[in-house]
Amino acid sequence: MLPPLIFQPVYRRYLWGGRRFASALGRDLPVGDDYAESWELVDHGIDQSVVATGPLTGTSLGDLVRQRDEELLGRHAPQKAFPLLFKFLDASRDLSVQVHPDDARASRIAVPDRGKTEAWYIVDAAPGARIYAGLANGVDRSALAAALRAGRCDEVLHSFAPRPGDCVFIPAGTVHAIGAGLLVAEIQQSSDVTYRLHDWGRVGPDGRPRQLHVEDGLEATTRFGPVEPVRRPQGTEGTIRLVRCDYFVFDEIVPEAGQVWTCGGDDGSHFLAIIDGRWTLDPRWGLPPLGQGGCVLLPASAGPQAFTVAATGPTQPRALHVALP
Ligand SMILES: [Zn+2]
Repeated sequence: MLPPLIFQPVYRRYLWGGRRFASALGRDLPVGDDYAESWELVDHGIDQSVVATGPLTGTSLGDLVRQRDEELLGRHAPQKAFPLLFKFLDASRDLSVQVHPDDARASRIAVPDRGKTEAWYIVDAAPGARIYAGLANGVDRSALAAALRAGRCDEVLHSFAPRPGDCVFIPAGTVHAIGAGLLVAEIQQSSDVTYRLHDWGRVGPDGRPRQLHVEDGLEATTRFGPVEPVRRPQGTEGTIRLVRCDYFVFDEIVPEAGQVWTCGGDDGSHFLAIIDGRWTLDPRWGLPPLGQGGCVLLPASAGPQAFTVAATGPTQPRALHVALP
């Protein structure tokens, strides 16, 4: 039987990153003000989550998927690789406007990959920060192409100012961008195919504009119209389903005060990312309590796991839950 697994975060540093993994997620970050992504669950080629504590310390997620598949994945075994990737993003600048292909299209490119359907959960939002999700009503592929050629992409994108707790579902084929000022948790298919449509007229670290992939991106754009956020009705507690799609289920959990919250026991693996509060597993696992930004993968074979949940401040404990459908 596999125990609950805590992995080391894999940091990605880009120009648009910041320091909020330290200031908002309590991470012990090295120096640098460009920490853009923190990958918490990844098994994609050389990019691997590695167990951080306990008897399996140093083991990669990929090795567990391929060598202990039934214990890890239960009814979802076998898999060539863990099909999902979970990360936090700290956007101190606007990210490029992009689109990802679906599975069929991604399987036909030079280095075949999965498609990428993704969903975002807004952890924190600076005043005025915007999400770009989908296209304004009536904008079709040719109108998008014309706007890109004219450098007026912002006029055809659908955008809104999200609140913390909002979830935005971005199926493959949807044009999207994360705006400056957002701290986001993202669940996605484990894929690395991105077509950049527009970069807000900026230049890269070498002083030149970053490469765009307008033709591929236009072809991969298959969803039109605006995307609106999903959010929990105010003042409610319990589990709400943010997204259910072919690739993942994504839930927000707000346990009632003093409640023990139980997860698993359905012969599948479950991933939990803590947004607020202190969440403690059974002491037999010898794992530290999980606080803000803490993540754990519960293998299928570990069976149901009860978390003792406590508030650590004036706000209610909150976590994100991911499972395979
Ligand atoms: Zn994306």
